[in-house]
Amino acid sequence: VPTVSIFGIHVSRWGMRDTVNHLCEAVESGRPHQVITANPIMVMAALEDPAYNVIMQEAELIVPDGTGVVWAAQKAGEPIEERVPGIELLHELMKEGQQRGWKVYLLGSTKEVIQETALRLTEQYPGVAIVGARDGYFGPDQDQEVIDGIRSVSPHLLFVARGADTQEPWIHKYKHSLGVPLMMGVGGSFDVISG
Ligand code: UDP
Repeated sequence: VPTVSIFGIHVSRWGMRDTVNHLCEAVESGRPHQVITANPIMVMAALEDPAYNVIMQEAELIVPDGTGVVWAAQKAGEPIEERVPGIELLHELMKEGQQRGWKVYLLGSTKEVIQETALRLTEQYPGVAIVGARDGYFGPDQDQEVIDGIRSVSPHLLFVARGADTQEPWIHKYKHSLGVPLMMGVGGSFDVISG
């Protein structure tokens, strides 16, 4: 993956198409991949918090979500092809899933939002099986139950919307337990999709 270092965070320089192609291979590999959609707030969080920095360093792919990251890459003399916004990447992966018959699990946001999101994505991508949808309001004592629920349906993709301070650490902590090849934090995307 061609990357540019922004304050020590290695952000992919690929545009949407190359990113999606790479992630399709990641899914087919079966090995766990954490994708992080980086904005400047997350880069700053990594500078201030060593634990968050470890998460960013160990992510399999960091994509340039925001214009701030694209701007910083330009300044560093290693331009990024284009922004890869998380919500657009979600839709592109759903399109691939539609062709490839993928199973998808949606985790996060409120009960109402997640149910509506599952309905709308099923309408839009009938070739994708939404094999699970669960809200994001649970504590660490329920982590194992949530993991077991995800494992039992073996999705290809797991989208997690619980806010950046929670979703990335959660995926990082459990990426080797979930049995999912591609996991991505999507922030407020379910709120937008269920809109
Ligand atoms: N969220 C969640 N569990 C939580 C906190 C937030 O599922 O404990 C969801 C929330 O419902 C929303 C998404 O995470 O759909 C993003 O939340 P927010 O915008 O507050 O986080 P930010 O993206 O600003 O970090």
